[in-house]
Amino acid sequence: MKLSFFGAAREVTGSCYCIEINEKKFLIDCGMQQGEDEKENQKLPFDASSISFVILTHAHIDHSGRLPLLVKKDFSGKIYATLPTCKLISIMLKDSAHIQEMDTKWENKRRKRAGKSEILPLYNTEDVENTLKHLIKCSYNELIEIENNIKFRFVDAGHILGSASVELFLKEHSVSKKIVFSGDIGNIDQPIIKDPQYIDLANYIVMEATYGDRIHKDNTGFIKELANVIDKTLNRGGNVIIPSFAVGRTQGLLYYIREIKKNKLVSNINFEVYVDSPLAAEATDLYDDDLFTYGDKETKEMLKKGINPMLFPGLKFTHSADDSKALNFDLTPKVIISSSGMCEGGRIRHHLKHNLWREECTIIFVGYQAKGTLGRMILDGAKSVTIFGEEIAVRADIVDFTFLSAHADRNGLLKWINSFDKKPEKVFVTHAENSVAEKFASTLNDLGFKAIAPLYMSTYDLDSGELVK
Ligand SMILES: [Zn+2]
Repeated sequence: MKLSFFGAAREVTGSCYCIEINEKKFLIDCGMQQGEDEKENQKLPFDASSISFVILTHAHIDHSGRLPLLVKKDFSGKIYATLPTCKLISIMLKDSAHIQEMDTKWENKRRKRAGKSEILPLYNTEDVENTLKHLIKCSYNELIEIENNIKFRFVDAGHILGSASVELFLKEHSVSKKIVFSGDIGNIDQPIIKDPQYIDLANYIVMEATYGDRIHKDNTGFIKELANVIDKTLNRGGNVIIPSFAVGRTQGLLYYIREIKKNKLVSNINFEVYVDSPLAAEATDLYDDDLFTYGDKETKEMLKKGINPMLFPGLKFTHSADDSKALNFDLTPKVIISSSGMCEGGRIRHHLKHNLWREECTIIFVGYQAKGTLGRMILDGAKSVTIFGEEIAVRADIVDFTFLSAHADRNGLLKWINSFDKKPEKVFVTHAENSVAEKFASTLNDLGFKAIAPLYMSTYDLDSGELVK
């Protein structure tokens, strides 16, 4: 029984872990690497046809984005995911393929002019359609028996709709082990979705630690703070631009803005809010469909009263590229929520180009910004940035609300791991920048755990817990 780390090892993106048992190999997640780590995307560090099946923790691209590549490279097994994840993954992977097709088209124009040969996208829409055929819908808390010696169960991770931790029950010869993969662990009291579910036992734990070195600011007064930023910016004639992950974060923001309008926390509650991301619009529809089943208690109560927690007067979804462009020429101060969340692609880059240099505007960051991304550069205080080959001055107010992240902070992570009845044999700390992974592992060691931050491509024997290579 072996466990290998093919991604999210001392980095935040590219989650991909491989279990080897009874001559069989399978994956937990097959995510895309983003930002500084993107270099690895083009290749899979294993033979795709040797993988029997995949268990997917949630729909975010850094956990799911290389599935179409896996299928393209002759993977023929099943992909197990919760029902909401199966729905979300369809729109997310199609969006991902579309972005790659567009990027490749643009790159090939350049290559042609330079006399170089053309390149192919990592995968295309057809590869995504093929991938979706492999999906097997699972319920939370249902024990799924893949074969006699391999069983697993999804439990709610409270991160985005459909997100799960995985309890994996393995048996090889006479040795039985239970391994828990945390997936992305949600923040407590996030709007709309439930809190993370806690687990009691494990021999090994593979846990994320994105914010393993940070305590999120207490967000009880947060809605007022957001209202103040919106009020100040709109009153001085500026736009509020919010780069946001299309799935999860955007729906949470809509909830907060509805509260602001309902409680009249700004001088003019009639302000307009544009969600300028077709993916976010589709994801909001999917959230809407499933809220009664998967929403938290408060959400269910609102729904019973006929209130949709994500909708309010003045909310508009822009679909066409022309509608999106028109936003930049309409002078009415407004709130624009757009993707991608780390400003690496998508329509947000146009909005940054048109608003970053205007000192009356405000850019609010509401989620994790990986090293090397445009979002991180702006958040870290760059005086100017290059967007579409043009130098743009950073004069707008930059507001850091990244504590709103859909990831638990250090306290949330410790609460999650301390909820186990017994300390596991070993904890593998993943999904965090190098220094954060080391720091969180040492925090756990100080608390009496045996924790390490594994290296990319390393393999551990799960009988002994020791490093194989
Ligand atoms: Zn995630």
